[in-house]
Amino acid sequence: RSKDRAGAIEGDLELVDVSKQFGEHTAVDHLTVTIPQGSFFALLGASGCGKTTTLRMVAGLEEPTAGQIRLGGQDVTRLKPYRRPINTVFQNYALFPHLDIFENVAFGLRRRGVKDVKAQVERMLELVELAGYGARRPAQLSGGQQQRVALARALINQPKVLLLDEPLGALDLKLRRQMQIEIKRIQTEVGLTFLHVTHDQEEAMTMADTIAVMNAGRIEQMGSPAELYDRPATTFVANFLGQCNLVRATATPAGDDVALTVEGRRWAVPAARSSATGTDVWLGVRPEKLRLTPAGTPVPEGVNAVEGVITDTSFVGVSTQYLVRVPWGQEVSVFEQNVGLEGPLQPGAEVSVHFRPAHGFVLDADGAATAG
Ligand code: ATP
Repeated sequence: RSKDRAGAIEGDLELVDVSKQFGEHTAVDHLTVTIPQGSFFALLGASGCGKTTTLRMVAGLEEPTAGQIRLGGQDVTRLKPYRRPINTVFQNYALFPHLDIFENVAFGLRRRGVKDVKAQVERMLELVELAGYGARRPAQLSGGQQQRVALARALINQPKVLLLDEPLGALDLKLRRQMQIEIKRIQTEVGLTFLHVTHDQEEAMTMADTIAVMNAGRIEQMGSPAELYDRPATTFVANFLGQCNLVRATATPAGDDVALTVEGRRWAVPAARSSATGTDVWLGVRPEKLRLTPAGTPVPEGVNAVEGVITDTSFVGVSTQYLVRVPWGQEVSVFEQNVGLEGPLQPGAEVSVHFRPAHGFVLDADGAATAG
């Protein structure tokens, strides 16, 4: 197959039953996933879950032990990295320090023998909002600017897929937030498939259309950021994306609802928000879905409520976080955005903690993925 033909492959990126062993260790375990052309797709997971190995196999830097990688329906599993229409942006940018920004961006074109690079380089510098920076050296740019040069340098090769390996890891928090939005804008503008690897759930939620949460070499759940957050399929996903209060319960079908017994209390959640019934399930409620009412004042009608004592309060700007000890000894976390309770409640205050049935969800106790 000619170089040009390989470069012309486009379409969905598919991993079909891909595994990678390092000796006895399984880094990636029978991974099957389709990444639609033009999507911004994030592989999200803790350190060691296999996301970088997955990315390196897509790039061609690592050969799968088993399985196939396809692009636009064509098997690219054994294609050399430079023969794949795929480029990678790394965390350390890997810019050439002795070349100016213009030449850094022009590098891929020059290597392919393209003569007239000026117009293309300038278009790329505009895309990443660095027009006028061409004569500088990398050391004369900020971290965020260097990252944008790295993006421009990758995009000028017109890859069909851009791989981003923790691309913002070296930046401070504020700059990282700006760059998240900036990279998302660039992806929308160029319309390419972006495959992004990160351990930062907020970053994945900000940037990606679809997130695959990885755990121990497998995809635990896949979906839009909102789907994963609102309806996690497993306790792992519930805890990995934001905070979640989880309590053991017994769940029985009851028409449109699932009736729950939680430490002797009778609660309910809609059946549509329950992926399990039985004597041993988890009830999950996000901290911002819990509300507090001072003891002795009535709680709203129809809520699931339990009494508790505040053990800690911390003001975190947009909200106040309360820890509340409930009768079975658990400390639940509550975020109140508008502290309309005549000033924040103090530790020791007796309260009711409650939530609307539609704000809970029920999971299998064994945490088995039931796919989103
Ligand atoms: P991180 O966020 O820390 O980079 P990760 O999710 O990207 O983590 P991988 O780098 O894909 O994880 O590694 C997955 C597992 O495979 C880890 O347990 C790692 O130690 C192991 N591993 C990765 N590369 C090799 C290698 N070349 N030889 C042996 N084991 C490896």
